[in-house]
Amino acid sequence: MSEQDLLAAIPRQLFIGGAWRDAVAERTLPVYDPATGEVLAHIADASPEDGVAALDAANEAFADWAETPARVRADILRRTFDLLQERKDDVALLMTLEMGKPLAEAHGEVAYGGEFLRWFSEATVHVQGRYGANPEGTGRMIVTQHPVGPCFAITPWNFPLAMATRKIAPALAAGCTVVIKPAELTPLTTLFLASLFEEAGLPAGVLNVITTSTSSAVSAPIISDPRLRKLSFTGSTPVGVKLLQQAAPGVLRTSMELGGNAPFIVFDDADLDNAVDAAMLAKFRNIGQACTAANRFIVHRSIAAEFTRRVTERVQQLRVGRGTDDGVSIGPLIDARAIDKTTSLVDDAVARGATVTVGGVAIDGPGTFFAPTVLSDVQPGSDLLREEIFGPVLAIITFDDEDDAVRLANSTEYGLVSYVFTENLARGQRMIERLQTGMMGLNVGVVSNAAAPFGGWKLSGLGREGGAEGIHEYLQSKYTLTANPFA
Ligand code: NAD
Repeated sequence: MSEQDLLAAIPRQLFIGGAWRDAVAERTLPVYDPATGEVLAHIADASPEDGVAALDAANEAFADWAETPARVRADILRRTFDLLQERKDDVALLMTLEMGKPLAEAHGEVAYGGEFLRWFSEATVHVQGRYGANPEGTGRMIVTQHPVGPCFAITPWNFPLAMATRKIAPALAAGCTVVIKPAELTPLTTLFLASLFEEAGLPAGVLNVITTSTSSAVSAPIISDPRLRKLSFTGSTPVGVKLLQQAAPGVLRTSMELGGNAPFIVFDDADLDNAVDAAMLAKFRNIGQACTAANRFIVHRSIAAEFTRRVTERVQQLRVGRGTDDGVSIGPLIDARAIDKTTSLVDDAVARGATVTVGGVAIDGPGTFFAPTVLSDVQPGSDLLREEIFGPVLAIITFDDEDDAVRLANSTEYGLVSYVFTENLARGQRMIERLQTGMMGLNVGVVSNAAAPFGGWKLSGLGREGGAEGIHEYLQSKYTLTANPFA
């Protein structure tokens, strides 16, 4: 499908109670192509009233959906997965248009994001309780699993499909209903996904989508409504903290997938070819705009010059441009604010003594592009060692021994993921035990997988998405004691 045909076919309204409809205030918000600055579409801009209407619908649909046989729920998820495969070219193109990632990476996200639909369609029929005697032998203990209730999902702009399926699929699998609010910068993919669920036969009200330019005003009444039983958020840590505070009075179940500041440690015994390949992926995938992006390259002093030379050479070969163009591997940053932030982080590091070996500056518009950058000799105290860069900037610091590397890696309030490169098995095992992160790549640069429990330690979040754990974020257990029937 051409870009124009695809955009013309995307729903632009709110999806509430199984119907597509305008916002009550009849307002719209523009969605931009970050590669050109042009408007792709105007979509409904919900007000708080619309948000509450979406929760009404999710609440109304809950009892029936919770009672729907697991096999039926599983089949709908599986059908949605199949429809996504049929439409994968359209979904990939849509993500490239609204978010900017290169088309090949958008296809990668369709595969990854789609997998949550298949994984949780399979998990749906495996939710089980247990039955057994209590230790005293006086009774029988029964443990059953129940959906938590209507859920509110808030997602970021950087992985428009995967962040939505990672929440919707386990919620629906567990028997919960959902209101989802995608990021205002990339809402089209979620609207498209909702239309696939509709086509797959999902009953009205089980999934509701609200798009809005006033996230805080629309979200707050939903979160404070006692009918809501679960809040699942992916985004920045400061917003996550604010939402946790809002969730506290209702003692809401919460899942928080928050920011990262991943260390990427290269020991002197690493396979350098592999480490360089992995560095390119861990840093430049998604234009550096991933919570799992390597933020601090911590490289042994004896190989730092060689590592720097090799990554610089590779970065010089990266082609920057619109994600739809052939051979492009670096698209635009999401908006002008991201350009300002990346520029100020690079300027700060340089002012403190770092050397730019390639890139280092924003590229003139149209579009919001930043030249892929390598910084060597980054000095302690530089802002980009403390903050998520969220841009295509590879920052290198050096270490002398293993303890030093661990201390540097752990000296952050975040704990999402770490990457370690060593050919020494015992050292690799020590790193597994010593690094304070919820996930780790040992000699690999990408860890995400629908079958794995994705999530962070420390300020990187609460709860896990994917894996065997993912569905339990949307289930609550009930323990019942009965008498010993033989007593
Ligand atoms: P963000 O926190 O600005 O926004 C995330 C979502 O929250 C968006 O939908 C936004 O509209 C909404 N939002 C913002 N303020 C709100 C408020 N007061 N009330 C309700 N909703 C509000 O984050 P972003 O810029 O969209 O995404 C980038 C961040 O997300 C980075 O920090 C990144 O590390 C993190 N992230 C984490 C993971 C993970 O799994 N840990 C995955 C992807 C992104």
